[in-house]
Amino acid sequence: MIHFAATVALAPAAPGAYALWLRLHAPIAVRAGKSTTMLAPGDYLYCGSANGPGGLRARLARHWRREKRAHWHVDQLTVAGDILGAFVVAGGSECALNAALGALPNPLPGFGSSDCRRCVSHLRFFPATARLPSQWENARKAARFTPPPP
Ligand SMILES: [Zn+2]
Repeated sequence: MIHFAATVALAPAAPGAYALWLRLHAPIAVRAGKSTTMLAPGDYLYCGSANGPGGLRARLARHWRREKRAHWHVDQLTVAGDILGAFVVAGGSECALNAALGALPNPLPGFGSSDCRRCVSHLRFFPATARLPSQWENARKAARFTPPPP
């Protein structure tokens, strides 16, 4: 079951997977492995998993925090842009979430998927005209969340 959490407090403390909904207001150069690319302003979805103490809530709290030592590829986006919310699945798999977003482009191969053989990247560009899978849309509507205009 997928849920949408517009704030950290709404995310479960259980382990699981999430898709972080990010918005960049200006282009930024991001690095993944040996590749660097410019990400255009706009929305992105990053799929990750949280299996440590505090589960999804603790991991999302870290993503939401601006002050942090860069550790993951996605930290480059979370310090530069805004987090609009996160789709969360307790007990879920980040690769399954990423696969559900297969219609969305991968702007930077290798981003967030260094230890994953299935996915080209765990970062998807999310154009304003694109539609999310219906279960995701239903989760967003159930949370009464509408993204702010760009
Ligand atoms: Zn993967």
